[in-house]
Amino acid sequence: MLADRQGRSFKYLRLSVTDACNFRCTYCLPNGYVRPLDHEAPLSVDEISRLVRGFARLGIEKVRLTGGEPTTRRDIVEIARRVRAVDGVRTIAVSTNGYRLTELAPELAAAGVTQVNVSVDSLAPERYRAITGHDSLPAVLAGIDRAIARGLVVKVNAVLLRDENDAEIERFIEWTKDSPVSVRFIELMRTGDNELFFLRRHSPLQVIERRLQALGYTPRARQATDGPAVTYAHAERAGTIGLIAPYSKDFCVSCNRLRVTSRGALRLCLFGDQNASLRHLLQRDDDREAIATFVRAALVEKAPSHRLHQGDVGNARNLAQMGG
Ligand code: SAM
Ligand code: SF4
Repeated sequence: MLADRQGRSFKYLRLSVTDACNFRCTYCLPNGYVRPLDHEAPLSVDEISRLVRGFARLGIEKVRLTGGEPTTRRDIVEIARRVRAVDGVRTIAVSTNGYRLTELAPELAAAGVTQVNVSVDSLAPERYRAITGHDSLPAVLAGIDRAIARGLVVKVNAVLLRDENDAEIERFIEWTKDSPVSVRFIELMRTGDNELFFLRRHSPLQVIERRLQALGYTPRARQATDGPAVTYAHAERAGTIGLIAPYSKDFCVSCNRLRVTSRGALRLCLFGDQNASLRHLLQRDDDREAIATFVRAALVEKAPSHRLHQGDVGNARNLAQMGG
């Protein structure tokens, strides 16, 4: 079992498979993805498979494929299949903006993906377009229906943006009345690129928490591979609501995930500045023990908490760059 000096244990790997994205979300990549001059190819399917085998040796049970936009990779289904084939991996989730979900949901499900997290920041087509730069709300919603029909667990991520989508809180909550989706509101996080935007649009989630309590929702107990969301359930409603509040007290106490960037660098915290590459250990089939040793040694450096309250975002320019 992999644990750090704070006694936190790690069973969950967030693996970015690309930095590239076709969307231009205002809080993330407002000018779209620009390929950097020092571009290095993302991990290949073979490198990903070796990496996950190394992490599985350390007790990792859940793998999330993220990005950038993971479905911009043509081999995303093959990646999922190879990750699923690793002994010890029980859950595979994919984070996506959903633009290819209608087409991909059946293939991802067949490849062994168990869960998709789909970003939907507005249920109003015009506002959705303004936030993401894409006119694809109907297609994304159709993709969500298809994913549910294929038996995938569907979670919807909505970043709360002051004076933009905060008038839609009730509508998002209503969505879970009859549909088995879990809508998760995410508090906007400051990054190196979005400082001014953050000051204008950041809104804490307490208002949603109070509303949920008034409606009769109650918080559910956490499980070891759960993400950072506090999940609220209601006996008479099909879906649930999650609140992801990175600025809340003790947010980091329950941290249970490690991250690897699309180029094979281990990231101990989204908002840290370390990027220790383990790509050199992914070139041969029999380096599983070396990967495990590398990760155990690096974990000693994991800080107890992020330093967002001190205005320190580490070297995170945007979350697309490190698999949000
Ligand atoms: N492209 C995929 C998507 O949008 O779901 C996966 C990558 S994206 C970086 C992962 C999640 O991070 C999305 O739910 C997105 O809304 C969220 N995100 C990105 N930048 C953020 C920020 N500054 N604050 C809070 N959430 C952010
Ligand atoms: Fe792309 Fe996701 Fe960032 Fe939006 S949040 S720009 S979809 S990586």
